[in-house]
Formats: sequence, structure tokens, C-alpha cells
Amino acid sequence: MAPEDFARVAVMLNPRPGEPTTVDSHVGGPLLWPADEPWPWCEGAAHYTTGDDIPEEAVVGVRTPFVGAAQLYRRDFPELPFPDGTDLLQVLLCTLYHDVREAWGPDVRLVWRDSTSVTELIDAPRPEWQEEDYVLTPNVLEPVRCTEYAMPPDRPEPLRDEEWPEVPHGSKAGGWTRWYNALPREMECPECGSVRRQTLALGGGEPSGHSIGWDLGRQANLNVFTCPQDVRHPIKVNLD
Ligand SMILES: [Zn+2]
Ligand SMILES: [Zn+2]
Repeated sequence: MAPEDFARVAVMLNPRPGEPTTVDSHVGGPLLWPADEPWPWCEGAAHYTTGDDIPEEAVVGVRTPFVGAAQLYRRDFPELPFPDGTDLLQVLLCTLYHDVREAWGPDVRLVWRDSTSVTELIDAPRPEWQEEDYVLTPNVLEPVRCTEYAMPPDRPEPLRDEEWPEVPHGSKAGGWTRWYNALPREMECPECGSVRRQTLALGGGEPSGHSIGWDLGRQANLNVFTCPQDVRHPIKVNLD
């Protein structure tokens, strides 16, 4: 087996400062969300706060609206596993700390949508409190494709010591996970048992040196894994 057997295309989002609208692929801009569909809220049971800025009673157990974090149109990211009849992937975050094993950090929701069915737009609610680390700045995207090779935790045992090109940090669709401290765990889909696959990363730093506003420390990525059988099965989130 050679590195080529473990090659995947990654589409680096390559975010650039800009003023994206609902009809653009973007990070940190407004979502194309229909007025007649309820906006997602986090129930808040797992919320906690560490700093002095946010009082505990303001967030612990407090229902909080998700925040639009990114949206990716099929025309710009055809490599993403869009279900039939959809052409838009939307990423929402609950921008508070969540005390959840293996998935601490912001809570993540993915929505796969048919953009052509949206006519009237919602007036999205804004949370009263957000952890500053998780507030994204508006960015337009200039996707760049590259080939990535699995890092040692994703290779079979005999290939783990081989030196292959590094998986770069940064926001991307597809590709391999940039493992740093964590290891692949509980990757099986609880619904069907398939091994979930790296689908999306939001980066704490970009290869260009630009930042989307995250402050996750040491350029960490927020990795989102989806089920290869059905992307609407439960996702797995890992901050590493
Ligand atoms: Zn939450
Ligand atoms: Zn599944």
C-alpha cells in the first residue's frame, strides 16, 4: 500500500474578508433560512462558562439560539455529499462552551437544504451571550483543491511510521482529519454502525495566515464527521 491509496481531495475554504450575503458560500455571514421554518435553539443543559464575562446563570440551563457559522453551495463545493434534492449545506453553532465528553466546545448543527425552495427569509434570533472565541467574522470563500494523505491514526498499523505529507490546518470540506491531541474514537454512527468520515473543518488558523475569528488555541480545527450512508444520521464533532 502506498500513500496514493490514502489520498483524498480536500477543498480548502480559503476564507477572505468580505461582505457575503445569503446567496453566497461563506463563513460568518447570513444564512438562507426560510421564514416558515423554526430557527434551531440549544436547550442549554450542557452549557458552562469559564471567564468573568458571562455570568453562569445567564447560560447554564438557558435556551439559546444557534448562530449561522457557514454555508456552502453545491456549485462551489460539488465534492460534498449533498443528499438528492439539496444544494446548500448550512452550519450552525451554539457559541457557548458545552460540557460534553469528546465534543466539548460549541454545539454544531448541519442542515442540508434545497435553496430553490426558499422564498421569504427569516429574521434570525441572536443570542444574548456568546463566547468570544467562537464568534466568526464574515468571510467570502475562494476554494482551493489539494490532495491530503491520512495521518498515522487513520492508517493501518504497518503504515503508521511512514513519513507522508502533513495534513494542513485550516477550514475545508472533505480531506483527512488533522489529528493533534485527540484520536479517532466513537466514530461509528449510532444509527447504522458505519464509520463516520471527515466532512468539514472550521480552522483556528488558515494556511494563508488569515483568521476567521476563532480563538481555539494552536490553530485547532473544529472537525465535523458525517455518516457515509446518510449525512442526516447523527454527526460527530471533535475539537483538536
Ligand atoms: Zn448550547
Ligand atoms: Zn449512519
